[in-house]
Amino acid sequence: MAQYERSPRPTRERSDDDKGGQRRRPMFRRKVCRFCADKSLRIDYKDLRTISSFVTERGKMTPSRITGNCAHHQRLLTTAVKRARSIALLPFTTANN
Ligand SMILES: [Zn+2]
Repeated sequence: MAQYERSPRPTRERSDDDKGGQRRRPMFRRKVCRFCADKSLRIDYKDLRTISSFVTERGKMTPSRITGNCAHHQRLLTTAVKRARSIALLPFTTANN
């Protein structure tokens, strides 16, 4: 997952560019789509081990801005989750007790 080497502080080489004040996210680390990074990882509605890591405890899907998935794979994942729900592999929601 962590393919990019992490440095404690981002190096600032282009001093001309940061005239506009401080950066909004100094600790920005580029998220990479897990499925693009690992070509052997398949999105399959029967593969709960993969899918359930993109679903919260309550059964909601994790948004791609959190997971870093690309649009293509997020779309495939949505379809897979919906399929898994319809055959009761995943919950639509959990009953709140
Ligand atoms: Zn992807």
